Amino acid sequence: MSENISETPVVQTVDLHKSFGSNEVLKGIDATIHKGQVVSVIGPSGSGKSTFLRCLNLLEEVTSGKVLIEGHDLTDPGTDINEVRQKIGMVFQHFNLFPHMTVTENITMAPLQLGRMSKAEALDRAADLLGQVHLEDKADARPAQLSGGQKQRVAIARALAMRPDVMLFDEPTSALDPEMVGEVLDVMRKLAGEGMTMIVVTHEMGFAREVSGHLMFMADGVVVEEGDPREILTSPKELRTQDFLSKVL
Ligand code: ADP
Ligand code: MG
Repeated sequence: MSENISETPVVQTVDLHKSFGSNEVLKGIDATIHKGQVVSVIGPSGSGKSTFLRCLNLLEEVTSGKVLIEGHDLTDPGTDINEVRQKIGMVFQHFNLFPHMTVTENITMAPLQLGRMSKAEALDRAADLLGQVHLEDKADARPAQLSGGQKQRVAIARALAMRPDVMLFDEPTSALDPEMVGEVLDVMRKLAGEGMTMIVVTHEMGFAREVSGHLMFMADGVVVEEGDPREILTSPKELRTQDFLSKVL
C-alpha cells in the first residue's frame, strides 16, 4: 500500500482507555490510520469494537489517553469538537436514518443545519451522492419505503454529505438480509478504491481480506493481533485470534 508515513495520521489513538463504571472496556488502544488506509476491525462480541469507534468521534467520553484527528487532540478542552466531528462520517449497524424525513432531507440535513452549503449546493450534492450509491430514483422516498440495503446506502450517502476525511463503519451489513450485503459492500469497496480513509468493524472476512490493507483483531479491550489481513486470516499467530477465526471462517 502506498502511504506517506511522514504525513499526519488521519486518526491516531494513544493508550486509549474507556471504562463504564468499573467495567474497563478499552484497555490501552494504540492505533494509527493514515490517509487512504482501509482498516478492518474484527473480534468477538463485547470486545470493545463499537466503543473504540465511538471514542473516535467522542460519541463516548474517553477515560484516559488521546484521540487525535488529523493532529487535533479531541481530549484537549481547547479543541472545537464539533468542527473536528464534521471530518468524521459514521455508519451504524441499524442505519439510524431520520424516519420522518425523505432520503434527500436525510442527506442534506447536516450540511444545511451547520450552514456549510447553500440549499442549492446541498441538493446538488445529495443528487450526486444518490447517483454514487445507485439510488437516484429514491430521492423523495422515506426510509420505511426502502429495503435494508437501500437504507444503508442512504446512510452512507448521508455520512458522505459533509465530505468527511474518514468514514467509520460499525458492522454496516450485520442487520441486512444476506442478499443485500453485496450491494452495500460494493459501495464501500468503491469508496475505498477512490482513496477514502476507512475504519470498518465487520464480520465480513472476505471484505477484510480483499479491501482492507490492515486488520486489527480485538478481544477483551485490547488489540491482540494486527497486520496484513491475508496473513492474519490465513495464519494467525495468537491463540485468541486462532480461536475466534476458527468460529467465524
Ligand atoms: P463490541 O462492539 O465489540 O461488541 P462494545 O464496544 O459494544 O463491544 O461493548 C464492549 C463492552 O462495553 C460490553 O461489555 C458492553 O456491555 C459495554 N458497554 C458498551 N456501551 C456501554 C454503555 N453505554 N454503558 C455501559 N456499558 C457499555
Ligand atoms: Mg459492536
